[in-house]
Amino acid sequence: MNKPRQLAIDELQSRVKGHVLDPAAPDYEEARRIWNGMIDRRPAAIVRCRDAGDIPPALAWSRDQGLDLSIRGAGHNIAGSALCDDGLMIDLSGMKAVRVDPGQRRASVQPGATLGDLDQATQAHGLAVPVGINSTTGIAGLTLGGGFGWLSRKYGLTIDSLVGADLVTADGQQLTASAHENEDLFWAIRGGGGNFGIVTRFEFDLYPVGPEVLAGLIVYPMDQAREVLSQYRRFTASAPEELNVWTILRQAPPLPFLPESVHGREVAVLAVFYAGDAAKGREMIDPLRHFGDPHGEHIGIQPYSQWQQAFDPLLTPGARNYWKSLNFTELPDALFDVVLSAAGRLPSDQCEIFIGQLEGAPNRVPPEATAYFHRDARFVMNVHGRWNDVAEDKPGIAWARDFFESAKPHASAGGYVNFMTGDEKGRVPAAYGANYDRLKAIKKQYDPENVFHHNQNIAP
Ligand SMILES: Cc1cc2nc3c(=O)[nH]c(=O)nc-3n(C[C@H](O)[C@H](O)[C@H](O)COP(=O)(O)OP(=O)(O)OC[C@H]3O[C@@H](n4cnc5c(N)ncnc54)[C@H](O)[C@@H]3O)c2cc1C
Repeated sequence: MNKPRQLAIDELQSRVKGHVLDPAAPDYEEARRIWNGMIDRRPAAIVRCRDAGDIPPALAWSRDQGLDLSIRGAGHNIAGSALCDDGLMIDLSGMKAVRVDPGQRRASVQPGATLGDLDQATQAHGLAVPVGINSTTGIAGLTLGGGFGWLSRKYGLTIDSLVGADLVTADGQQLTASAHENEDLFWAIRGGGGNFGIVTRFEFDLYPVGPEVLAGLIVYPMDQAREVLSQYRRFTASAPEELNVWTILRQAPPLPFLPESVHGREVAVLAVFYAGDAAKGREMIDPLRHFGDPHGEHIGIQPYSQWQQAFDPLLTPGARNYWKSLNFTELPDALFDVVLSAAGRLPSDQCEIFIGQLEGAPNRVPPEATAYFHRDARFVMNVHGRWNDVAEDKPGIAWARDFFESAKPHASAGGYVNFMTGDEKGRVPAAYGANYDRLKAIKKQYDPENVFHHNQNIAP
């Protein structure tokens, strides 16, 4: 363990309304815990901000003390960029307020809110923002990297609903970024991650969703997975944008609708979501039941916010996670060979390979319209390497890397910064493609000293 530095903690405490923790504080250990249990770093101090006013003094203090800096939203980032060693962690996770204006169909969201906080507030009015599929994920990191989930085919990426944001820049200035103010900054934060400033408020457009939707799972045996994947490719080529189907290959969790004999066996799961008229939806999804001979299914009408939590039990915090991700414009047979080979060698009962559908509204935004560049992706594939024991790291990471290398020749360009691990910094320029140079120029303007570098970094 590093020797604690003598820091003027009391001085920072006297300047902020939130609570400042040093490593001796009783709640320090809990405060430095993030979603990915593989990341173990010890900040010299943590400031749990009460409101946006705490941020400029925290930034000034870290500069005066010569400290490194990291920013934490809900702490879900797979690379663990919320945490730094020996620096100041600015923890925004207590700033969770969501204010909805149903008349204007707008939501004003603080940066510590989770997707669950946002869904709960917006669904009270039958409205929603397209966000990710796990309710404990933070809206801040998700939005800044792009953001997609069940509603994205119909309503676009999360950033496509962002109409403005308030930020504190590296020099402590408080700015608003929107289509009418600091337009370059607004462009950059729509995909450029936490590189440009600390967002203290997001403003989103909302869409009518649910509050009930048709959703659920159809579970096939793994020996039918090749047929399921080829039928999936055919089906998704013409499915309407209200319908979003993801394929997941993993060991079957003990789901009550599956026979016990299937629990723990390798399966190919179709996760099905339809955000429209339920009767029409039932008709639309019927072919999915005939890709083979399923073990079972559980599909029904349920609250959208409930479906948004459906995967939470598989994605609990604290496990060790190593992910790899690729974008695809096509799903060739050769890719299925690679997928099936890796799915036949899952290194733990928590590892999974998912293929998510993106085709639709995200593709209609020009690549240069926001920092998020790879608008051509029709599918995203994510390899969730996940286990509990440190001894599983080596084989698990080797499995994920091997799969990634074999799948890469079939992928389209770039990648999604929000799914990149800490050792993938070299992929950042490709993730931004032709937008990278403009991002660098904007970084130089707003953060020339690269104060915000615990992220998928765009060096000025
Ligand atoms: C289980 C799980 C499921 C996921 N599912 C999806 C999904 O369906 N769709 C999807 O698009 N993504 C998904 N993701 C990826 C997710 O978008 C990223 O992990 C994202 O970084 C999480 O945001 P956070 O605020 O919780 O992150 P944190 O770890 O708190 O922050 C990560 C980084 O974001 C930046 N940041 C955070 N808050 C701010 C702020 N206020 N101002 C400036 N910078 C900030 C900082 O650089 C920070 O280091 C998932 C991740 C996990 C772990």
